[in-house]
Amino acid sequence: MSDDTDETAAALGRIEADLDDVEAALARLHEGTYVTCTSCGRAIADERLRLQPTTRWCGACAPAARDGEPVAGGGALVAPVTPEDRVENGSLPDAQDG
Ligand SMILES: [Zn+2]
Repeated sequence: MSDDTDETAAALGRIEADLDDVEAALARLHEGTYVTCTSCGRAIADERLRLQPTTRWCGACAPAARDGEPVAGGGALVAPVTPEDRVENGSLPDAQDG
């Protein structure tokens, strides 16, 4: 009925949202996935966890995740192909000098 009631309800909503984040973080902690980005599967930096202990994304994924975009994560647990993998037959580009 009063503005106070509206403000209290809004504050309560924020607290409940925060509580959800904390409970989700605790659940990940128990699962052993607390430091793992839920989007790409890579480790979340310690500094980032210190600043935002309930975050579930690494720095690379957080902006897109916050925008609500689905972040590609399906194949991210597979190790990326590195240039070293591609030149394992010894044909390095700079090996022909001589
Ligand atoms: Zn990530």
